[in-house]
Amino acid sequence: MELEPVIGLEVHAQLKTKTKIFCNCSTQFGRSPNENTCPVCTGMPGVLPVLNFQAVTFAIKAALATGCKIARESRFDRKNYFYPDLPKGYQISQYAAPIAEHGHLDIETQKNGAKTIGITRIHMEEDAGKLIHDPVRARSMVDLNRTGVPLIEIVSEPDIRTAEEAGAYLRKLHTLLKYIDVCDGNMEEGSFRCDANISLRPRGQEKFGTRTELKNLNSFKNVEKAIRYEIDRQAYVLEEGKSIIQETRLWDPNKNKTASMRGKEDAHDYRYFPDPDLPPLIVDETWIQSVAKLMPELPDQKMVRFIEQFQLSVYDATVLTSNLDLADYFEETIKGLSDIKQAANWTMTTLLGMLNAKGLNITQSPVTATAFSTLLKLIEKKAINAKTAKNVFEQMVSSCKTPETIVKENGLEQVSDHSQLEELVDKIILENPDEAAAYRGGKTKLFSFFMGQVMKNTRGKADPKIVTPLIKSKL
Ligand code: ADP
Ligand code: MG
Ligand code: ZN
Repeated sequence: MELEPVIGLEVHAQLKTKTKIFCNCSTQFGRSPNENTCPVCTGMPGVLPVLNFQAVTFAIKAALATGCKIARESRFDRKNYFYPDLPKGYQISQYAAPIAEHGHLDIETQKNGAKTIGITRIHMEEDAGKLIHDPVRARSMVDLNRTGVPLIEIVSEPDIRTAEEAGAYLRKLHTLLKYIDVCDGNMEEGSFRCDANISLRPRGQEKFGTRTELKNLNSFKNVEKAIRYEIDRQAYVLEEGKSIIQETRLWDPNKNKTASMRGKEDAHDYRYFPDPDLPPLIVDETWIQSVAKLMPELPDQKMVRFIEQFQLSVYDATVLTSNLDLADYFEETIKGLSDIKQAANWTMTTLLGMLNAKGLNITQSPVTATAFSTLLKLIEKKAINAKTAKNVFEQMVSSCKTPETIVKENGLEQVSDHSQLEELVDKIILENPDEAAAYRGGKTKLFSFFMGQVMKNTRGKADPKIVTPLIKSKL
């Protein structure tokens, strides 16, 4: 019996507001424990939550970017449970009436090509605090800095079929939220977290099988690995004739396996009910329109524009728009250039190669877009050849000097003076009569020997476009 995986993803993205969702405390990461707290977010009696306007604006932005329908009226509910990192004894979350529903995200994988994944809903909620377990003594402490930090939860339809599709969906969503500037996407700090729901069913069967939910997936690689493992584990259980238990499982990145964490509580155990302290959230057309005006060009739109406007290949355009800062850098670089394809190649190989090797992102590049552009202009003007340019680029990285300064200080200008090069070619042919005779006798491979001599004499600066025909005609 062939089994088909069914996967649905839940993503928690932290919104980039300066303050928490229901109080004025800072959301800044890395402060000392409990520094970012007040009576509201520590759940003192008698306090009242006040909804953060900016958090709602960010949620609307995310909803627009994923083609969701925005609810004119949504609501905040209380999700009741006890845990030491939840001082109120309940989490405020949109449950029955979320702010947005019925969206989608288009993904692309090597194996299955283009595909649309449905987004069931986006809802707003507050984050919980964090327990810190003492490694030495048998005690735990609680840090409430994260309590009340605004999140959106983006729930996908169970449309995903492979680990690769899950990875593509998450990367796409991550890029999108960073593009529209509502989430910093920092996975180590927990700003973008994912739970994966997985079940198997006999291919052809409509009804879904029993699912497990995987937690603790803190990198794209881990999500894919964990899903692959879980698919294999469930297939093994089912093929043994046993059944899957609905439960939450934790991915252990060191052991490369999942293990049961707890049985899945039923939703009604949380005793959801509307929070009496918060009025319904009304989002009118004017608000939506004002947010729509703030929307930047989205990654897919930018990619299509790069292909049309700059005649780039789909691959080049995809790489160059994979990150907004990179796309901006590239557009800044090509101002005033005519060879856009050359600029794309230099950006993707030389520039990204250097950044990769140094572990830097594009905003930390030691070579600014302006300096990079000047370097490419020098190549276009034939002031330096491509080989010299690589050398100049390396010096730009280490010295932060401008390309013109480096070229001048090192006398690297390309030699393209025709008569000067002609004289040199004549001299080299005279000095190497045996090679010249062999070339004329048919050993045309010796061409590179002559070219090598010219480059040696000009310290690599001769313009090959002038030298090539010169050598050929002289011989
Ligand atoms: P909960 O809040 O209990 O996690 P939801 O109904 O919100 O439950 O579903 C969470 C996620 O699980 C969604 O992304 C949904 O697509 C996915 N899902 C639901 N049923 C299945 C199933 N049988 N197999 C795989 N994924 C599923
Ligand atoms: Mg869930
Ligand atoms: Zn507070």
